[in-house]
Amino acid sequence: MRDDNCIFCKIANGEIPSKTIYEDERFRVILDLGPATKGHALILPKDHYADLFALPEETAAEAMKLAKKLGAQMKEKLGADGFNLVQNNGECAGQTVFHFHLHLIPRFKEDGQKIGWKPGKPSQEELEEIRAAICDE
Ligand code: 5GP
Ligand code: ZN
Repeated sequence: MRDDNCIFCKIANGEIPSKTIYEDERFRVILDLGPATKGHALILPKDHYADLFALPEETAAEAMKLAKKLGAQMKEKLGADGFNLVQNNGECAGQTVFHFHLHLIPRFKEDGQKIGWKPGKPSQEELEEIRAAICDE
């Protein structure tokens, strides 16, 4: 399952060179060209799935296992103090490459990066309305 117009298909399958930190039959993990921090990596399935909703559950579970394994490796080898896992779905959520990828972002004390959001202040009623809409009840 490949998309000939997809750059991550080409990278994941080795047609375009990348700084690869891990590879097996189903995944390639590469260093991001525009890293948030030292070691920022992208976990790429070799098959093309546009986003989380297209991704088979088994592949999603494997990606999470890889994040755990490589996160531990970066803690040990790069001295990371923490991690962010980021996974964007849809243009409005910041997705720019439409081939599923999981960002593995090692964090270091005083690395100067900020990955977050401005917290809202919903009332209990608003939260209840949202809860009911999501749960369809
Ligand atoms: P998104 O915004 O879709 O969640 O993340 C796309 C990420 O892919 C960005 O962090 C960007 O720096 C990275 N990226 C885009 N093109 C390339 C590329 O050709 N090679 C590598 N290694 N990273 C890329
Ligand atoms: Zn692709």
